[in-house]
Amino acid sequence: MSTCTDSVVGDILSSWRYDISGISPEMRTDYEEHLATCAFCRSRQRLHRTIDVALISLSTLCIAAFLLALAVIHHVEPLRTAAKVIHLEHTAVVFTLQAAAILGLLASLAAWILVAIATPAPGYLTGVAMEQARVLQDRIPEELRSRLRA
Ligand SMILES: [Zn+2]
Repeated sequence: MSTCTDSVVGDILSSWRYDISGISPEMRTDYEEHLATCAFCRSRQRLHRTIDVALISLSTLCIAAFLLALAVIHHVEPLRTAAKVIHLEHTAVVFTLQAAAILGLLASLAAWILVAIATPAPGYLTGVAMEQARVLQDRIPEELRSRLRA
């Protein structure tokens, strides 16, 4: 459990971050077999996919947070006209916040794209979603399913 059963295959898998979704199905079988038999590589694979999903979730959350910030800043605008006394100063503050939020949004968008390109997270999440859909479909009673098909 604590070590790989085949260090040669294990090293190759490790260099790919245990992602074999990019290689052709014929070449994949050896690695799939190893993953099926080697608990060490299987647990590493799970860890790496968890990291990928965490990264993409985090960057998605960042995008949402900056969008929210921009929306809030945008709504502050009417307040500005109400507070005419500190008008000039306030404009400057709103612009700085807006610039910061836009910069943050661009940075998190870039991070999201990088994660999506560099990791198998999108494919992995699609796979999980398809799996869930299949499970749900299997749960639909046979009677209802045949009626849906008809
Ligand atoms: Zn292994």
